[in-house]
Amino acid sequence: MRRWILKHRFLMARRFTQLGILALYIAANAYGFMALSGNLSSSLLMKNIPLSDPFALLQMFAAGALLGANVIIGGLIVSLFYLVVGGRAFCSWVCPMNMVTDAANWTRRVFYLEKVERKVWLGRSVRYWVLGLSLILSFLTGIAAFEMVSPISMLHRGIIFGMGMGFAAVLSIFLFDVFAVKNGWCGHICPLGGFYALLGRLSMIRIKHDQTKCTLCMQCKDICPEKQVLSIIGKESGMIVSGECTNCGRCVEVCDDDALSFGVRNYIKKNV
Ligand code: SF4
Ligand code: SF4
Repeated sequence: MRRWILKHRFLMARRFTQLGILALYIAANAYGFMALSGNLSSSLLMKNIPLSDPFALLQMFAAGALLGANVIIGGLIVSLFYLVVGGRAFCSWVCPMNMVTDAANWTRRVFYLEKVERKVWLGRSVRYWVLGLSLILSFLTGIAAFEMVSPISMLHRGIIFGMGMGFAAVLSIFLFDVFAVKNGWCGHICPLGGFYALLGRLSMIRIKHDQTKCTLCMQCKDICPEKQVLSIIGKESGMIVSGECTNCGRCVEVCDDDALSFGVRNYIKKNV
């Protein structure tokens, strides 16, 4: 049991955080407990501290909307927070879609679908193209384009206020990840994940690799949803500086050799 807990400590902490955040939003909506109210695009923490999705703000800016000071401050607070904890920490610790895509990954593993030939080829950089397209469409149409169709918002609002058509979008992503492309949505398409990956290039808390302890078992690469970020495994010690790492901690907990850990980046010395 102790071993199981150790092997899943970050997974449990992430689920606790994801569900805890959802519970706070639900409590604000249903019971007026206003510790965290609003939605993932725009919230109020403790009734006073604004929190805004910086990618939604960029789209609104491109669409020509006039942004209030509170909204801009909210975007800066959120950006600064993720610059410290890791851009895509949003993905693995906050975004509710992560539970859906992790469930798809689990389904693939349990039903041995890993061995089924891949039906669709998608590059990891597609998300950056979708991000750029979202901004261009926002500019051309005068509305925040991705926000209009975001399955993340649909899922989040669906959980808090009741699921409608959003269910179809979420189910489509689940099935796409299970049968078409492994980590298809989060690891290839989602522009919000792409935005946080760009922010995460500069973030402070990163995964650290100690080559002297590594036995090349490759369990980290097997479990990692963004295995391309682990390119230094087997080569050298250092920090995983790619913004695409979600700081999910799965590689840390599966490593039996303690070769991976969370660390604080040294911006002066390269790769330390
Ligand atoms: S990639 Fe997108 S949907 Fe996936 S966890 Fe990140 S923000 Fe959420
Ligand atoms: S490198 Fe580790 S922390 Fe980063 S995404 Fe992969 S498993 Fe998660």
